[in-house]
Amino acid sequence: MPKPILMTVDDDPEVLRAVERDLRRQYGNRYRVVAADSGAAGLEAARQLKLRNDPVALFLVDQRMPQMSGVEFLEQAIQLYPSAKRALLTAYADTDAAIRAINAVKIDHYLMKPWDPPEERLYGVVDDLLDDWQADYSPPFEGVRVVAHRWSPAGMEIRDFLGRNFIPYQWLNIETDESAKQLMATSKTEASCLPLVVFADGTYIPKPNLAAVAAKLNLKTKADLPFYDLVVIGAGPAGLAAAVYGAADGLRTLLIEREAPGGQAGRSSRIENYLGFPTGLSGGDLARRAVTQARRFGAEILTPQEVSGIRVEGPSRVIRLADGNEIAGRAVLVASGIAYRKLDIPGAEKLMGAGVYYYAPMSDAISYRDGDIYIIGGANSAGQAAMYFSKFARQVTMVVRGEALSTTMSQYLEDQIAATKNITVLVNSNITEVTGQDHCEAVTVSNSKTGEKKTVPATAVLIYAGALPRTEWLAGVVERDELGYVISGQHLMHGDSHRPKGWTAKRDPFYLESSVPGIFVAGDVRHRSAKGVTSGVGEGAMAVKLVHEYLATL
Ligand SMILES: Cc1cc2nc3c(=O)[nH]c(=O)nc-3n(C[C@H](O)[C@H](O)[C@H](O)COP(=O)(O)OP(=O)(O)OC[C@H]3O[C@@H](n4cnc5c(N)ncnc54)[C@H](O)[C@@H]3O)c2cc1C
Repeated sequence: MPKPILMTVDDDPEVLRAVERDLRRQYGNRYRVVAADSGAAGLEAARQLKLRNDPVALFLVDQRMPQMSGVEFLEQAIQLYPSAKRALLTAYADTDAAIRAINAVKIDHYLMKPWDPPEERLYGVVDDLLDDWQADYSPPFEGVRVVAHRWSPAGMEIRDFLGRNFIPYQWLNIETDESAKQLMATSKTEASCLPLVVFADGTYIPKPNLAAVAAKLNLKTKADLPFYDLVVIGAGPAGLAAAVYGAADGLRTLLIEREAPGGQAGRSSRIENYLGFPTGLSGGDLARRAVTQARRFGAEILTPQEVSGIRVEGPSRVIRLADGNEIAGRAVLVASGIAYRKLDIPGAEKLMGAGVYYYAPMSDAISYRDGDIYIIGGANSAGQAAMYFSKFARQVTMVVRGEALSTTMSQYLEDQIAATKNITVLVNSNITEVTGQDHCEAVTVSNSKTGEKKTVPATAVLIYAGALPRTEWLAGVVERDELGYVISGQHLMHGDSHRPKGWTAKRDPFYLESSVPGIFVAGDVRHRSAKGVTSGVGEGAMAVKLVHEYLATL
């Protein structure tokens, strides 16, 4: 927790030194003393402190400074720190000015120079002021601050990225939050350069891309070694399990993740069917625990970092990264999961990130308080979202293409939805249009049975319409099915024990091995996988066993 600040401003070096010395001696263990030798320097220091979100408890300022009087300084400084206590240092001749200032800038006290001995003439006054200040003080937020419009897609992307990478952050809505406006002013950021990201050390980046934010936060995007025993691609449940088991077994293990650990599961508000958690746990929680566990065993995790290609070089499997670097492994596990399927709804693309979302970040739920939310999809992920958002929204409407939820959703979730008063399910229905000026304002719902169409107000449209693998980067290297899922094990065997084309080993592929020896696949991205958190974790763990068997053959 940073110490609150006592700022003293005086253009007389001797007086400044004396005040600084006296304050530090008495309050140095609880407060940080900042001294400035002019009003302008004091204001600049206050601006920097504001950017770092450091609290100022007291301004103790000399009235008689020729460039900028104490009162003039305070007029500006209290814009930044309205709750800081204000005391003027005055000479006898300035008393009238000081008294007038009591009204002008609400001076809390004026002190006559000299104040010796401080025990009698300074500390009592300052103690009182600080006691007062402490009574209303709540410690400031210490993490990253994101200044953005509520409906800014770029702001949403940054908030989602920070949340899913477990970086504490505070979102300051520029329309409603005074401190957001102050941060814009102190950092001299134009409205056109929002979102603004301000870091804990007071530095800031206007309109940043995720790579710049990641670099500033020291997220690890470069590998320590050029070569690993096992390189795992994708940090969803399957990849995280493989990293834990691989590293625990003593394999030098590298896990590479394009967005944030957790994968699809990281977007789940409550996973209720995972063994050992009878009351369920959130996907974010599961991911955080798994990351800690993997790191504890020594796995190295790169995030955000994307794999863009792979090739075979003798016994090495060489991974190409999106930043142009390459890393090699003795074995590779593809655990890249599936990514959401895009829907073509007129008007939706324009409002993407401004009330229309695929797999919406849960961190955003609070901003839909009392809103009307429409959820597209009838699978478990849509059901979980409906349950979660119903805690905040006035009304949640699930729009489902099919005849009933029960064909696509687990019974326990369907029961919960039926028992939740502010969730309505519209079956045989589609959203056929989304409208709004700069954010989602209305949707048109069409019934495929009756042909009826209705346009109704909507705060947000959240889309959970299924997903597909994105494995183009594996094309021409491993066998994939027509949808892009990676084929493994017995599914590769053609006819009567015909091994896959180009297969080089003198054995059949292992159960989770692709058409290239040493490249394994686990989780949702695997052809004919069971899909789900438990099977992903199971396959990730099993893949490590098979990697050991493979390495033993080299
Ligand atoms: C909202 C929601 C709720 C769900 N709830 C449940 C539930 O309650 N119970 C349940 O069993 N299942 C649930 N599921 C499904 C479950 O989350 C998935 O089946 C599971 O996450 C699959 O794990 P995975 O590791 O195979 O892949 P994913 O979770 O998809 O993870 C793959 C990871 O690989 C990364 N990646 C992809 N390509 C690359 C690349 N080229 N380079 C680097 N990284 C890459 C992705 O960014 C991603 O993080 C839910 C899914 C969603 C979306």
